[in-house]
Formats: sequence, C-alpha cells, structure tokens
Amino acid sequence: MMTALDSPPLNLVLDDIVRSHRPQSEAGSVPASIPHLSSPAFNRFGIAVATTSGDVFSSGDADLPFSIQSISKVFTLAMALSAGEPSALWSRVLREPSGTSFNSLVQLEVEHGIPRNPFINSGALVVTDHLMEKSADAAGHVLRFLADQVGGPGPFIDEMAAKSELANSSRNLALAHFLKDFGNLHRPAQAVVENYVRQCSIMMTCVETAKAGLFLAQGGRGAQGTVVSPSEAKRIGSIMLTCGMYDAAGEFAYRVGLPGKSGVGGGILVIVPGECSICVWSPRLDSKGNSLAGSAALADLSDRTGWSVF
Ligand code: GLU
Repeated sequence: MMTALDSPPLNLVLDDIVRSHRPQSEAGSVPASIPHLSSPAFNRFGIAVATTSGDVFSSGDADLPFSIQSISKVFTLAMALSAGEPSALWSRVLREPSGTSFNSLVQLEVEHGIPRNPFINSGALVVTDHLMEKSADAAGHVLRFLADQVGGPGPFIDEMAAKSELANSSRNLALAHFLKDFGNLHRPAQAVVENYVRQCSIMMTCVETAKAGLFLAQGGRGAQGTVVSPSEAKRIGSIMLTCGMYDAAGEFAYRVGLPGKSGVGGGILVIVPGECSICVWSPRLDSKGNSLAGSAALADLSDRTGWSVF
C-alpha cells in the first residue's frame, strides 16, 4: 500500500491510467444481440473514483453516459434486500458462481428453477420480480434510487434502446417462463422482462455510477441514509467478488483483488471497502463479456494504489 507521502495525487494517477489504457485499435467486440451497444466509438474510455471522504476524481470520458446493463443488478439486489424479507429472496436465488454463461437456460432447467446467483440473468429476473411486489414500475423505482444516490436527475432510461432490446429478448423471456413454470416468478413473465430490460437500459456516467455505488464502500450508508446494513453491504461485496464478472470472476479477483460488477455496455463498478467506489467504462469487450480496456485499467490502478481486499 502506498503511503500519503509517496503516492502521487489521485487525479494525476487517473490521467495516466487514461493515457495508458484508452484503446488505440478496435480490439474486442460488442454484443450482437443488443444493437445500440455498438454506437459508442471504440476508443471511449472513462474512469471515476468516489471516495468515502466525499471527493470525486475522474478522467477521460467520465462524464459521458453509457448503458449500465448488468451493473444495474447490484443496485436492484441492494434495493430488494433493503425492501425487507431478505430470507424470502434468498429462498428463491442462491449465492454460488454459475460456471456457465450469464443467460444459460440449461442450468436453470437442471437446477429446478433456482438461479445460482442474483447476477446471472435468471437470478436478476427473480430480484426484479421481488421488487415488483413493492412497485409494478420497478425500473422507475431503480431510477429514483439512483438519482437519490447521485444527488440529481442525471440517470435516465434509454427507452429506444430498451424497446430494441426487448424485441430481441427471446432468451430472457424463455428464462422468465422457465422460472414461472418452476413457481419462482410471481408476476407475469413479460412484465418482469420489460422491467428488467428497462433497468439494464439505464444510462449513467462513470462519475454517477461511482457515486451510486459508494454506499457499498461505506457499510451500506448512501447519500440519503442507510441503503443496506453493514453486513448486507459486506455480503453484496462478496457476491460481486465471486459472481460479478461473468465467467471470469476468478481471473478478475486474481488480477484486481476487488469486488466488481460489469455490464455488457463496457462499464465495471468496483468497490474498495472503507475507501472508495470506482467506475471504469470502455465499450469493447473480451470473450467473457468484460470491458477489455476497463479490466486492464483496474488491474493497473490496484497495483499502483495497493487497493485490494487481500
Ligand atoms: N440486458 C442484457 C441481457 O439481459 C444484460 C447483459 C449484461 O450486461 O450482462 O442480456
């Protein structure tokens, strides 16, 4: 760990991270199933750090909104746990890495409709279903939660993108129907998938995403008070560490040593407990679905700062 005396100011470190990791070529890919994710230029790269002492540092394209996609699953899980009856939720979804792709149908069938964890699509559908018991407009509820955390109306739902993803959502609908068949979905499959897709289509900047995730670095305390208890914040971090990076959670833990959640929009939210929350965004993905430049930048940042849970 660097000491205050030998560490360069964080804003200079972030500027250097951007210089070193902004993509120079069109390496990696974007998901074919979600057409709007191919819009951002391949060389977009932003990073932001929101600290528990109240500072925000950022560099590169940190103020450009991007599609948070599966990063939303961290926020919906926290909201579902804070809504009460966590045991009711945990009887419907497990907390184990899946070892299969995030939208696998086979595993759900073999395991009788109980998703492996809340960060694969089937698990996230159960979480959204749980949220819908409080509000049929679960996605709108998520948006208001995020606005509260960032302290302004910045986050918005890209409704066009949501519509186009919904038109290509056969697999998510299939997962929802499987869940329903096993008795693990209370609301109609179509309504749950619609809310899920709209929550994935939320647009936020790196600065906003880092601010929104800060409660997880502060023992569950968000911008407007308690979001979850300290032990729930710890547990969400544990699930991020073991299940947050698709089928590359082990590799990410090895390289970065921090709990993270990525989305196929190219964003990654990372938590340094007690210190800060970090968001990096660059749209091109590796073969596992994680931002290529974003993962490399986080490995570099954790090496430079000593930030790690290990
Ligand atoms: N909306 C995407 C889907 O359901 C989210 C994928 C992701 O970011 O993991 O396929």
